[in-house]
Amino acid sequence: MSGSTIASVPMLDLKRQFREIGDEMNAALQTVNESGMFILGPEVKKLEENIARYSHARHAVGCASGSDALLLALMAAKVGAGDEVVVPSFTFFATASCVPRVNATPVFADIDPVTFCLDPQKVAEKLNEKTRAIIVVHLFGQACDMEAFQALAREHEAKYGRKLYIVEDSCQAIGAEFKGVQVGNWGDASCLSFYPTKNLGGAGDGGMVVTNDDEIAQRVTLLRGHGMAPRYYHKEIGVNSRLDSYQAAVLNVKLNYLEKWTRARQENAARYETLFANAGLQEQIVTPQKVGDRRHVWNQYVVRVRNGKRDALRAYLAEKKIGSDIYYPLGLHQQECFAYLGYKPEDLPETLSAAQEVLALPIFPELTADEQTYLVETIREFFTK
Ligand SMILES: *Cc1c(COP(=O)(O)O)cnc(C)c1O
Repeated sequence: MSGSTIASVPMLDLKRQFREIGDEMNAALQTVNESGMFILGPEVKKLEENIARYSHARHAVGCASGSDALLLALMAAKVGAGDEVVVPSFTFFATASCVPRVNATPVFADIDPVTFCLDPQKVAEKLNEKTRAIIVVHLFGQACDMEAFQALAREHEAKYGRKLYIVEDSCQAIGAEFKGVQVGNWGDASCLSFYPTKNLGGAGDGGMVVTNDDEIAQRVTLLRGHGMAPRYYHKEIGVNSRLDSYQAAVLNVKLNYLEKWTRARQENAARYETLFANAGLQEQIVTPQKVGDRRHVWNQYVVRVRNGKRDALRAYLAEKKIGSDIYYPLGLHQQECFAYLGYKPEDLPETLSAAQEVLALPIFPELTADEQTYLVETIREFFTK
């Protein structure tokens, strides 16, 4: 489209969102300022109730980040020294870093190449008498095959006579569903992040543990505040991971728009699918697929670029001022900090090839149809020039 007037396409533009709801956000912050309550407090309580209701779950407990939510979930489940926790390698670092933080050992399993989520078959091969938990990641906004993981857990519990916890890393997947049931209702605990790039993002860091388990909820509440109950009496060594009122106030406003924004992401994903099909790029670009029994909330729109062209394409897009990103360039099993675990790159072949092929394209709700058209046209140009 040489007549296009578009000069650039950002990967994410939160300023557009602020233009829509900035007045409401500012008013909510003003209320917090006037209340003089900046940590936890009524706004956090309200957010916890709102998120529990939105998730159709019994409890939601706020904390300082998605990373802390994962750590608190493992602490609440009393995962510790001598335990193994199966995690994907193709994910954000925090999915695995919480495991050594509780003195347990991360065990990396490979992904399904279509959904980028943990492959239940590969997880099954990693289970043994030391396995205490599995952390599944609903990566890019699509839920994992939760029935398969529940079946694995039940089988494991029958075999070894002790509980196998399932922790859902739902940091990219608020509102996603498997067979009509939201994430947060499949595992023992589910972790949300309110980092600004997530589908529900605050004005800073924030996180939450969602659960239907009364004991987990009560333990996360205790542990996020230094294990203290009552005040200055410490039952356990917890952490300082409180959610602040500013974040909760902003999130309470934004939650009212989440469904609308999710639908916009879904429409953008559908438009990309049509644009790529029409561009005839099937040999070069593999578009992400939604599995039939799931609700995808498209935190990221991640294509695979074939034939070793990913980095060259990304550089070409950057030259044309089109944003893109790589989630993730290196599997966690290849990270320096996990070298002590002794993995070889080829131990997880699907993770290895995904890391070499993936490219995330802009999908944020306010992205325009013209911007998407321009972007796909520019990709076609790259492959035909
Ligand atoms: C963002 C994210 C986290 C961590 O959340 P923070 O709030 O940034 O600590 C954990 N896991 C996944 C998959 C994420 O995308």
